[in-house]
Amino acid sequence: MAHRVTLIPGDGIGPELAEATRRVLDATGIGFDWEVQEAGEACIAEYGTPLPDHVLDSIRRNRIALKGPITTPVGTGFRSVNVALRQTLNLYANLRPARSIEGVESRYQDVDLVIVRENTEDLYAGIEHMVGPDAAESIKIITRAASERIARFAFEYAVANQRRKVTAVHKANIMKLSDGLFLEACRTVAADYDGRIEFEDRIVDNMCMQLVQKPDLYDVMVLPNLYGDIVSDLCAGLVGGLGVAPGANIGEDGAVFEPVHGSAPKYAGQNRANPTAMILSGALMLRHLGYADVAARLELAVREVIAEGRTVTYDLGGDAGTSQFADAIVERLAATTAPAAGS
Ligand code: NAD
Repeated sequence: MAHRVTLIPGDGIGPELAEATRRVLDATGIGFDWEVQEAGEACIAEYGTPLPDHVLDSIRRNRIALKGPITTPVGTGFRSVNVALRQTLNLYANLRPARSIEGVESRYQDVDLVIVRENTEDLYAGIEHMVGPDAAESIKIITRAASERIARFAFEYAVANQRRKVTAVHKANIMKLSDGLFLEACRTVAADYDGRIEFEDRIVDNMCMQLVQKPDLYDVMVLPNLYGDIVSDLCAGLVGGLGVAPGANIGEDGAVFEPVHGSAPKYAGQNRANPTAMILSGALMLRHLGYADVAARLELAVREVIAEGRTVTYDLGGDAGTSQFADAIVERLAATTAPAAGS
């Protein structure tokens, strides 16, 4: 039976990347029934919002979506489609793997990190106000329930993906109550995995320095929303930048898979943008649907095409267009057999 998936092409380079990704995913042999839904700039004139209710309903119904980047309109009341999606659908876990790819220029060759970011609270709860004309206040919300939930997600991910360690990242030395509670929740959950998954914690500033100097020391990291946002981009930088960084937003009732990068409007419609991040987000979707072996095959095909370097986009030093890059991955996919289990 085909999997019904909400496909949101998005703005800017989004539609080209979505088309490339759809073709590659169709070539895996897993049947998909794509329900295409427009969100973003094009919707504002017609619906008065970049995120109409029928798009949210589609995701609620299908419980799974693949999404291109969406431009955040400047100067309207709408904060961000992405933040709204995560909060409305309670997609509490933001998962961002950062793994080196041979052929992608970066400082390190063997980075293999996974960032698990709490997606619903912290300073992103959006509770802020002016206190008189010359001071502003933003409220940082941290709850035990959300912190334990994200910590458990990180440990379960570690178990399911044969990872060895979870590091909780915080600033509990200064924010003793809020980050203190986050850390305490992580410790509580860690006790349930004692002997199976190692646990440690790091203060966020120290963590940033260590990641830049010795990324190989770390494995899975779990962070509150704001630190997670910042540290995940740092980790994307360690493996060659936004063009190759996939992501997922996962909740109990649904999941939205999307590249980390934005809509890069200056490249829109030019068949130039790199589809890797969105295709690898598609691989995360395959894993989520239970097709770990097919996901591994797809990731291998992407890695081989990039390592070869003949049919890659401008940002990877080539001159292929988005669609030619996707063609090369489709071809490689057909020729690639699944790697042995555990490899
Ligand atoms: P961006 O990621 O769109 O682009 C920054 C630069 O990175 C681009 O100019 C380009 O050089 C490069 N780049 C990004 N993706 C690429 C790709 N796939 N292939 C090749 N090069 C790529 O960031 P921005 O310019 O800050 O944001 C543009 C818009 O996207 C803004 O409106 C922003 O709010 C939005 N945005 C959306 C999301 C999302 O939908 N998840 C995420 C980030 C930014």
